[in-house]
Formats: sequence, structure tokens, C-alpha cells
Amino acid sequence: MKTVYPHSLTVVLSAALAGLALSTVIAEQPAESKSPALPLVEVIPPPPFVIAEPADAGTNAVAAAAIQWLNDNRIAAVFADRNATDAAVRCRVRFHHAPAAERDYKSAFEIKPTAEGAPPLVVIYTAALAAPGVAPEQYQRRVNKETLRGVLLALGIEKCVFFLCNLYEHEDTDALDRKSTNPCPPCQGRVEEWLRNNDLMPRTVVREPEQP
Ligand SMILES: [Zn+2]
Repeated sequence: MKTVYPHSLTVVLSAALAGLALSTVIAEQPAESKSPALPLVEVIPPPPFVIAEPADAGTNAVAAAAIQWLNDNRIAAVFADRNATDAAVRCRVRFHHAPAAERDYKSAFEIKPTAEGAPPLVVIYTAALAAPGVAPEQYQRRVNKETLRGVLLALGIEKCVFFLCNLYEHEDTDALDRKSTNPCPPCQGRVEEWLRNNDLMPRTVVREPEQP
């Protein structure tokens, strides 16, 4: 049996950085409705707080897709100059097409120490997730899962004991493949709490519709 939480992360993080758009209109008046106009609901995302550095040439495509996936799931992420500084940045991500540094496989990433006060750097070792016989989609899912887990752990969200949760510390790639791409509901609650505590929740603004 496979448990996934297809939309729950989206719900929890509702609109943090929806594709870096400044605002997103998610409800508007139906085109040919005679009923009163519906109010416009605008979601204003927080500033980007996860920064992805330019990836190695060998891992560009999979890295770009993983970052796109984070964006789609409303985790702020942009490719940026590696010297970029921004007060809102809480974590940096770099993709490296090399085996994971750890000999006993537990993660394909490393959270590197940085200078005092600087945001942590998560290095995703993509080669650790590719193997002969692994389909491109499966490889991509593994990279997505490990990218999200690395970022969340770097932000200070704790690991989880539930074996289907993204934040579970799996022992091998079979266990990684069994996990969901998303955190379990209690862990999502912790992510949401972290966002609130860091003033990084999206804001929702309701506007009256313009009169025709
Ligand atoms: Zn969990």
C-alpha cells in the first residue's frame, strides 16, 4: 500500500512564492454570470527564503526540475547568484553530481556548516540517487524527496519516525522509494508553524470586484 499526500503540502504552504509571481488571482467572476461579482482573492507570497545556486552541468536538468517542484509546492526557491545576499534567505541549496559523502547510505545530501549567522548550505549529491535500471522519473522523484528533506532539516524541522513521511530517515533507496514526496500531516503542521514563526506565511487579501 502506498500513501501519498498529493495536495497537502500545497495546502499547508498555501502560496509562499507561487512561481515568484507578486500576486496570484485565484478567484474571479465567471465570464457570463449574471449573479453579483465575486470578490477577488489575492495571495501575496513571502520573499524567497530558499535559494538554489547554479547547478553542476551534469545535474542541471534534474536540479532545475527539483527546484521547479519546490516552487510548485510553494517552497520558495530561485536560481540566484551564489553571492546573493538577502535577509529573508534561510537556506541555500546546491546540486552536485557526485556520490553522497556518507558511506552508510542514509541521505543523499549534506548540510554544510557555514559562517556564523549565515544560512545553512544543503548539498544534494544527485549521483547517489541514480543507478543502472532507475527510470528517469524515479530518479527525479528521489531527487525531489531528498531536496525537500534536506531543506526542511536545514531549516530546523525535525526528522520523523513515520516510514512514509518525507522526513523519515530511510536506510536505503528502496525505503526512499516507498516514502511520500511530502511530509506527513503532523510534520506539515510543524512546517507551517516554522513559516508562521519566521513571518514567511503568504498573506491573503480579499478585494471588492471592479464594477462593470
Ligand atoms: Zn512526519
